[in-house]
Amino acid sequence: DAGLMWFRRDLRTEDNAALYHALKQCRRVWCVFVFDTGILTPLLQRGLRADRRVEFIHESLIDVDEQLRALGRSNGTEGVGLIVRHGAAVSEVAALAAQLGVQAVFANHDDDPYAKARDAQARGTLAHAGVVLHTFKDHVIFERHEVLSSSRQPFTVFTPYKKAWLNALTDFHLKAYPVERYADALAPCPATAPPWVPPLESLGFVRTNLRELKIRTGSRGARALWEDFLTRIEHYHQTRDFPAIKGPSYLSVHLRFGTLSIRSVAATAYGLHRRGIAGATAWLNELIWRDFYHQILANFPHVGEGKAFKPTFDAIRWERGAHAKALFAAWCEGRTGYPLVDAAMRQINQTGYMHNRLRMVVASFLTKDLGLDWRWGEQYFADHLIDFDLAANNGGWQWAASTGCDAQPYFRIFNPVSQSQKFDPQGKFIRRYLPELARLPDDAIHAPWQAAPAALQAAGVELGRDYPLPVVDHAQARARTLQRYAGLKAG
Ligand code: FAD
Repeated sequence: DAGLMWFRRDLRTEDNAALYHALKQCRRVWCVFVFDTGILTPLLQRGLRADRRVEFIHESLIDVDEQLRALGRSNGTEGVGLIVRHGAAVSEVAALAAQLGVQAVFANHDDDPYAKARDAQARGTLAHAGVVLHTFKDHVIFERHEVLSSSRQPFTVFTPYKKAWLNALTDFHLKAYPVERYADALAPCPATAPPWVPPLESLGFVRTNLRELKIRTGSRGARALWEDFLTRIEHYHQTRDFPAIKGPSYLSVHLRFGTLSIRSVAATAYGLHRRGIAGATAWLNELIWRDFYHQILANFPHVGEGKAFKPTFDAIRWERGAHAKALFAAWCEGRTGYPLVDAAMRQINQTGYMHNRLRMVVASFLTKDLGLDWRWGEQYFADHLIDFDLAANNGGWQWAASTGCDAQPYFRIFNPVSQSQKFDPQGKFIRRYLPELARLPDDAIHAPWQAAPAALQAAGVELGRDYPLPVVDHAQARARTLQRYAGLKAG
């Protein structure tokens, strides 16, 4: 039989579940990736021609193509490679399946609402032509209904989920799929469907600052980052909260696009955790959060449709109107007058990445200091994060807005100044992104409006001219937020 492997958010050949099954089940296998106009056209229509993700994917496909060629060559087959198409994903895959005469298409699960609808449509269209769509778990360790409570319900709180996750884990779940073993099924591409990665510009996109940022793409880039992280994973629990320190792994974009296998990193982290390495335990915990939010999206799909996890919170009355829009613009552009918030927003704007601690700080600030709808922030992150992942992003935003799965009540409100003092004590991170404040002394940098006039003057900072005065007063905003949420409860 002949099969077609359809790559999506799993841009690697190593330990790829669907590719393994395709190669094992079929005598001849071709591989395709489609630049889906269903995803790309809306971006272009909104003027987002410079998108780091599109560039990341584009570069990673060149890497996948090389991996396929190498696998082919190792079996003496020339002409193996990645077929890349640009168009509506379902029709492109169906047309290619017909052209190649395959009986089956293989792909990995994706539980994002758009992807689910696309796959349902693909299943139907392919079935019409007598082609079966086989899909597999690849992106997470446990998915959908695999980890349930004792009453067979999906978990909605992290701690018991984590416990059940760890209890359910066996070596089998962390085992790599030995793709190489069956690589001789990779077929040379016919002249009518040659392996080819089109230039980025032909897709309507332009280059971003990905290279200047030294973001390495593909499995090769992922491996380099992973090896670097392994040299400091043991300190992760102590360093992870300080944005000025190289503490976290920076692997999120690779886990998002599957240039790195989640099983391979979880296996190593789990092994170190079993040996009592506290940093590895803390890091494994984050991977479990990742699975947690993926199962939330799969089991409670309303969260992916702009709804609060807890429906009561859909009735919150967020600030609206011109003033709200002006506050939102100040947040987006990093000019709220709260240095840590502003530095964080400049980080996302300049690099497409934001440190986890700062994601929590700016999300809390948007919802609880500015009183703005969490969905505005969620969308802004969705447009700007290179590692944007609907499940994790939505989970993070609903957590910050207290509308989601969080054991903590809504009156957990971050104080943006004390967060700054605690997690960026010398203002190193702030100085990196707000050079206009660089000369302020450590004790003044977290809340410049409280600094002595002499300190401001010595640092050459005039508030309102060089750096904004705070757009809100935290204590007043906090009181308003408590009312907003309490009113809802009473209502
Ligand atoms: P590390 O600290 O090295 O963590 C390792 C991996 O664990 C990450 O790469 C990621 O895959 C996973 N992970 C870590 N924390 C979380 C978490 N809280 N939830 C789910 N997975 C997690 N993560 C995304 O991947 N995409 C997003 O769009 C996203 N949006 C977020 C929005 C908000 C408001 C918040 C509070 C968090 C968000 N996160 C998101 C989670 C987290 O901030 C990032 O995964 C992390 O900062 C990425 O950096 P890292 O790879 O260096 O992380």
